Amino acid sequence: MSKYVFVTGGVTSSLGKGIIAASLAKLLQSRGLTVTIQKFDPYINVDPGTLNPYEHGECFVTEDGAETDLDLGHYERFLNIPTSQANNVTTGRIYQTVINKEREGAYLGKTVQVIPHITDEIKRNVCLLGESGEYDVVITEIGGTVGDIESLPYLEALRQLINELGVNDCVSIHLTLIPYLSAAKELKTKPTQHSVKELLMTGIQPDILVCRTEKPITNEIRDKLARFCNVKKNAVIEARDADSIYDVPLLMVKEKLDQIVISKLKLKGKQKPELEYWKDFLGNLKNPTSSVNIGLVGKYNELQDAYKSILESFVHAASVNECEVNIVSIHSESLEVSNAESKLKNLDGVLIAPGFGERGIEGKIHAIKYIRENHIPFFGICLGLQMAVVEYARNVLGIKKAVSEEMSPKAKEKVIHLMPSQVKVKKKGGTMRLGAYDCKIEKGTLAHKIYKSTLISERHRHRYEINNIYLTDLEKAGLIASGKNPESNLVEIMEIPEHPFFIGVQYHPELKSTVENPHPLFTNFVKAAKAYKSKNKEA
Ligand code: GLN
Repeated sequence: MSKYVFVTGGVTSSLGKGIIAASLAKLLQSRGLTVTIQKFDPYINVDPGTLNPYEHGECFVTEDGAETDLDLGHYERFLNIPTSQANNVTTGRIYQTVINKEREGAYLGKTVQVIPHITDEIKRNVCLLGESGEYDVVITEIGGTVGDIESLPYLEALRQLINELGVNDCVSIHLTLIPYLSAAKELKTKPTQHSVKELLMTGIQPDILVCRTEKPITNEIRDKLARFCNVKKNAVIEARDADSIYDVPLLMVKEKLDQIVISKLKLKGKQKPELEYWKDFLGNLKNPTSSVNIGLVGKYNELQDAYKSILESFVHAASVNECEVNIVSIHSESLEVSNAESKLKNLDGVLIAPGFGERGIEGKIHAIKYIRENHIPFFGICLGLQMAVVEYARNVLGIKKAVSEEMSPKAKEKVIHLMPSQVKVKKKGGTMRLGAYDCKIEKGTLAHKIYKSTLISERHRHRYEINNIYLTDLEKAGLIASGKNPESNLVEIMEIPEHPFFIGVQYHPELKSTVENPHPLFTNFVKAAKAYKSKNKEA
C-alpha cells in the first residue's frame, strides 16, 4: 500500500509548494523509492485548458492528453517520469463527476452534499494513484492557501483521510512564509502561527513546517515555531530563497526533510539520497564556459510562467552545453519591419513561441523573415512553425496573401488550416489535438541528426495544421517536411536544409525536457547558437 504526503500552503500563494513537493519526491526517489505527485486545484474550471496564460501561466499537457497545471511540469522535470490526468484534479472536475453521477441516479434519492459526496469524490481521487500499487509514496499538493473558502472541502477530505489512514501512513507538510521586516531587522513567525491555527481549525495538525525565508532561521525561531505550532523542532525546515529551483532538493537534504518523512512513514529507503547526476547537472549549470543570447518572441512575455517549460528546457540545455543561456524576451506586438533588425541582430538564436489568436502575429512573421535571411538559428514551436510556413509562403513562394485560417477564416490562401477532425468541434475545453502522437522522421535531415532516430513521439496541443496542398511547392522552394505523423500524414517538423539551423515543430518538445533527459531540440539549438556566435566573432 502507498504512503501519503499532504502538502498545504499558508500565509500567501506563490511560495513554491510545487517545487517543495517535487524536491521531496526527488529525494525519496533517489533513495530508491517509487514516488508520484498529484495536484488538486480548488478552482471551478474543469481543467486549466481554457484559461488564458495571464490567469494561470502555461498549460502543461501530459502524455495522455490532459491539459493540466504547470506544477506537473516541475514534477516531470524533477522526477523524470510522466504524469497523467490522474495527477491533476480541479474542483470543476470533482463537481462534474458528482453531478453526472447524480443525473445517472447513482445516489438513490439522497440529498447530494459537500460532505460526504464532494469530500468522498476528493478522497477517491487522492487515493487513485496509490491504489495502482505502483508507488511507495504519493505526494498530494493542495493548491491555494489555507483559509481560502474554496479549499475547505479539500482540507476536510484530508482530515478524514488522515484519520482513516492512521499516523504511520501519512504525513502532513505545511509550507509557510517567515517574512523579514527590514525596519525591525527581524524574522516574524506570527503569520505562520496564524496559518497553522487556521489549519488546526480544519482538524489538521501539520507534522512538518517548511518555512520560506530570505534569511537563515535561527535556533530561537525554530524553538518558537515548534512550541506554538505543535511540531517537533527538527521538523521545522528552513527553505531559503535559492538561485535555481534545482538547488532546492540539495537544500532540503541539508535540512533532512527526506529523513523526517522516511522516519515518520517507516519507509525502507537507501541510507542516503544518490544525487550525483543532479550535482553534475548543477555544477555544469553554474560554471558555464560560454554564453549565448536567445530571443524568445511571444505575446505573453510579461508573465514568466506563461513559457515555463520552454524556459526550463533552456536551463537543461544550458547545463548540457556548459553555456549560459540569456533569454531576451521580445514582445511580438513590438516587432515591425522597420525595427526587426535592431531588435534581433545581436541575438545568437531566436525561438518563436507557441500561442493562439491574432495578436502579435505579424510581428512574429517579420522576425522570422529577418532570422531566415540572416542565417540566425531559428526554432519555432507550434504557432512558431505555423508562422514560419506563412512567412515562407509569402516571401519565397510569392503567395502574398498567405495566412493561417486561425487569423483569417475567410481568406483564400490558407497555408495553415483547421484539421479535418476539428471542423465540427464547437466546444473549447479538451477538444484540441492533445497528447502524444508518433512522428516519422526522414533520414539525413536535421531532425534526424538531432533525434538520432526515425520514429519519435511528442506531445501536442493545437487545432490547426500545415495545409498539405501547399507542401510540394514549399518543399520545392526549400522548406521541407522532415517529420510526419505516420497515420494521418500531418506535418510535424519542417526545416530549411540550406539554412545553418532552421527548424519548426508542430508539437511541444518543451513538455518532455527533464534534468535527466534534456530535450535534444533544445540542446542542439543552443549548440547552434554557440556556433553562430563564435562564427560571427571570427567574421
Ligand atoms: N493556435 C495554433 C493552433 O491551434 C497553435 C497552437 C500552439 O501554439 N500551441 O494550431
